Amino acid sequence: MLICEICQLSFTSLNSLKSHKRDQHSSAAHIILENGESATIFRESGSSKFKCFCQKYFETIRGFQRHYNRNKCAAPESLNFSQEDPLLSSTPSTSSNINDETAESSVADSSVACSESRKLLTDLSFRKFESSFKAMDDQMKWKLSSGRTVEDVLYDFGMELEREHAVHSFILDTSDPEMKKLFTGQEWDEITRETELETTTLPESILNLIQEMNKTNIKEVKRVLLKYAEIRYSDYPTSDEFHIDKICYAIESL
Ligand SMILES: [Zn+2]
Ligand SMILES: [Zn+2]
Repeated sequence: MLICEICQLSFTSLNSLKSHKRDQHSSAAHIILENGESATIFRESGSSKFKCFCQKYFETIRGFQRHYNRNKCAAPESLNFSQEDPLLSSTPSTSSNINDETAESSVADSSVACSESRKLLTDLSFRKFESSFKAMDDQMKWKLSSGRTVEDVLYDFGMELEREHAVHSFILDTSDPEMKKLFTGQEWDEITRETELETTTLPESILNLIQEMNKTNIKEVKRVLLKYAEIRYSDYPTSDEFHIDKICYAIESL
């Protein structure tokens, strides 16, 4: 077991430790500006975070680079390129991306937050988030009357985060004040109105079944399944019996 001497997190391989140190503790991040020049951004001494030109803060290099590469935030005119370390400018930012790629599978899996309890996202989880978004059918998305689409808003928000969040599973938690901030008052009214309408309770017979299935061993689960045999092989007089059969079937095939 390897321990990071800076934050005391433990790692299973040297690669993951190195990648963790580079991402979370190294003080300089390289980015390629819109004009093709490369720039080095250092962590702020107070917050020890990277501050983008747009004033947003990032705790990891890859989080900052991902944000910057997506948004290409405008660099201030005053940015003085001549002061840049010539050695640093000769290494394009892609070099660190390549390094990230090789060590990526191990880095953040084992790294828990230095300051927060939520886990840092790996590049892999970002790619999954991205591909599940891209696989979405536009027609099936939730389009608000304002013209904006809920899934698109969640995606943009999720891409900016460095740590795990329900939004990475496209979960819109209406009790989360962070979520509310993403939408206008009018949009939020529409969203909460819809979710209220969509909340329905399961029929009692199905709730009972689920409760009965809450067993700690297979033998007992089998006994419950047996109990439902008659219902399951009926001609489904109501849709409840149909659903009971399908739930039992799903449990059986586990
Ligand atoms: Zn560390
Ligand atoms: Zn920015």
